[in-house]
Amino acid sequence: MKIHSGTLYWPTTTDNDLSIIKNPIAPFYEVIIIGGGIAGFLAAHACLEAGLKVALIEKEDIAMGSTAANTGILHYSNDIMLHELIEQIGEKNAVRFYSMCYEAILDIETIAQTLPDQADFRRRQSICFASKTRDTTKLLREFKALHTHGFPCEYWNDIIIKERLGFEKDGALVTLNDAEFNPVKFVQCLAEQCQQKGLHIYTNIMVNVLEDTNEGTILHTINGQFATRNVIFATGYQNLPYGQLKGTNLKRSYAIVTNAIDNFKPWYEQSLIWETKRPYLYMRTTPDNRIIVGGLDEDKAKVPKSEAKLEKQSNKLLGLLHELFPQVDVKIDYSYCATFGDSIDYLPYIGEHPDHPHYYYLLGHGGNGTVYSMLGANILMDLLQGLPNDDARIVTLARKNGIT
Ligand SMILES: Cc1cc2nc3c(=O)[nH]c(=O)nc-3n(C[C@H](O)[C@H](O)[C@H](O)COP(=O)(O)OP(=O)(O)OC[C@H]3O[C@@H](n4cnc5c(N)ncnc54)[C@H](O)[C@@H]3O)c2cc1C
Repeated sequence: MKIHSGTLYWPTTTDNDLSIIKNPIAPFYEVIIIGGGIAGFLAAHACLEAGLKVALIEKEDIAMGSTAANTGILHYSNDIMLHELIEQIGEKNAVRFYSMCYEAILDIETIAQTLPDQADFRRRQSICFASKTRDTTKLLREFKALHTHGFPCEYWNDIIIKERLGFEKDGALVTLNDAEFNPVKFVQCLAEQCQQKGLHIYTNIMVNVLEDTNEGTILHTINGQFATRNVIFATGYQNLPYGQLKGTNLKRSYAIVTNAIDNFKPWYEQSLIWETKRPYLYMRTTPDNRIIVGGLDEDKAKVPKSEAKLEKQSNKLLGLLHELFPQVDVKIDYSYCATFGDSIDYLPYIGEHPDHPHYYYLLGHGGNGTVYSMLGANILMDLLQGLPNDDARIVTLARKNGIT
């Protein structure tokens, strides 16, 4: 499935000179990861830290799946608010899930600090404004829930919003210690680092035939056979070689990247901006002074073939940016549409297949896919090594909307 169409921005920001060492296939790997996006490389990094012999197989080039369309926003809050998640899975689990997201941003920062330019990782606050006056009630409830459980946040009223951002909204929840980064730079640099630490990377190899043996699994590919004890599926929104997701939604989403502007005067501290409406509009700035605007999700998985459709949606996004910041004079430099997946219970798919031991999944479905990939890589490392991990039950694949 073609996962994005249009012109992507992040691949233009790196020189993409990752040269992949042509390692002969080892007789046996402790772990093979299928998928060379952000999830795959966070898993590879964790496997190497744990001292495991690991290979990664990607059917195309590194970081060119959904990772290339990812707008690089890292929130600790989620598409489902904490007070709503408390109603869904109980206070203890919901608060722990939010804490896992908070800690995952710290883990991503720690990895970014080992990469060139820190992969443009920067701490930012996120401003979620009330799209409608009545949404302020929800935001205030969420502020109380976050504040009560010690998550750093503020509530801004209409006066503060006008003063700091120049536009008129009745209220906003501001979450502190969020971040932005460049996902393609991060993955390409992490791939290089992992390769230096012993990861075997194989690109342009599709995996779809897996055979169980007494020792583990054999992956049959046109380039040869790979034998392994454990498989991690980090295949993003694409068809799984094994297993079926329950309760998943595949949609498509749009994003534009503007030309660079001289300054961000009306844009308080280059915050990440989003809103309460669903589907939501979201925005960030880039290190080279551009603005990224995303949203307008549609209930269709396939990206549009027609350029006219992409142009129409891109102009709509530009119009929405101008509604908030009429003084910002920009044009569109890049625009694209990409497939996007989430789950109906708003939780990612992380863990071991309920009926197939040694098959692990790292599928960060949802708007916070990067953060989920990081927290999931941590969980999987414990599970793979037979260590207890209390967080695993929150995202277990054995749940009602897990994997069969
Ligand atoms: C427009 C848009 C904006 C987004 N913005 C954000 C954001 O700001 N923050 C955030 O956290 N998330 C965001 N997301 C979500 C985010 O992109 C994804 O959750 C995340 O990047 C997916 O990474 P991944 O590694 O799971 O998937 P991918 O990057 O798609 O990697 C999976 C890889 O597996 C490979 N593969 C699949 N099947 C096989 C096979 N059988 N054999 C070999 N290889 C295979 C694919 O080729 C692909 O490269 C956004 C998504 C979209 C569409």
